[in-house]
Amino acid sequence: MTPMDTAPSGAGLVAALDVGGTKIAGALVDADGRVVLRARRPTPAAEDGATVMAAAAEVLGDLRDLPLWAAVQAVGIGSAGPVDRAAGSVSPVNIPGWRGYPLRERVRDLAGGLPVQLIGDGAAVAAAEHWVGAARNSSHALCMVVSTGVGGGLVLGGRVRPGRTGNAGHIGHISVDLDGDPCPCGGRGCVEGLARGPAIARRARENGWRPEPGGEGSAAEVAAAARDGHPAAVAAFARAGRALAAAIAAVAALVEIEVAVVGGGVAEAGEVLFAPLRRSLPEYATLAFTRGLRVVPALTGPDAGLIGAAAAALGRVDG
Ligand SMILES: [Zn+2]
Repeated sequence: MTPMDTAPSGAGLVAALDVGGTKIAGALVDADGRVVLRARRPTPAAEDGATVMAAAAEVLGDLRDLPLWAAVQAVGIGSAGPVDRAAGSVSPVNIPGWRGYPLRERVRDLAGGLPVQLIGDGAAVAAAEHWVGAARNSSHALCMVVSTGVGGGLVLGGRVRPGRTGNAGHIGHISVDLDGDPCPCGGRGCVEGLARGPAIARRARENGWRPEPGGEGSAAEVAAAARDGHPAAVAAFARAGRALAAAIAAVAALVEIEVAVVGGGVAEAGEVLFAPLRRSLPEYATLAFTRGLRVVPALTGPDAGLIGAAAAALGRVDG
């Protein structure tokens, strides 16, 4: 069996790695952005760097064991950041064992010398949504993930723009409250501190919402309560939506985006988040060229990191 007999859509098969604080996912992705086969391991995030790399190597090993590997032309890595594209290194906040870790080189060694591209997870989401998702027909887009953190990436002039070191579009750490709470990043009043899932859950509790017996008090539970009209839950999502609106408006003013794509676990709350976000947007996006900005849900879901890494492998991300 030749590789071309097995590749689902012919040439352009690539391998993708999505490195996060809780899992390392891998996949073979075809030229149309479809995930063909996958592998994954938990990230031993508290262990030393070599142990984390061993988990990544196991994921790659699973992919290399597949007959289809013979058709793989390149490897893309999307990693939790910060990353340094020029150096090929990563320093994920949630993986302390990796600081300036030469991930691109290590993966190249394990991938038999195939070309390897590295991008940050925010740029990966933008690359995925621009390739096969909600930003597919947009040349100027912000693509965001709102989950336990808030991240993002930019599409400008029809290209994913990861920036000088690969971290452009990192919207979670735009300040929307000058005198707000200190952020772990060292800043103050960051949108992440207002819109991330745990912040929504905390605010709902502060205002009197309580989880059902046996509940964890997650943002998803707050979303369910908001759908039932619980005022504290509704208010917590309204606050998060407003913070996101202010940040999105700032990006629109800065680089003239036409659409903001919002994904991630918190965005799965749907209209509970999107309705107040859209309602608040005109308060902040006031200049003529920022009006008409659309805010839409992401389409690539949990595969965004893999699809975006594959897009990078295929040269769809600026160098
Ligand atoms: Zn911050």
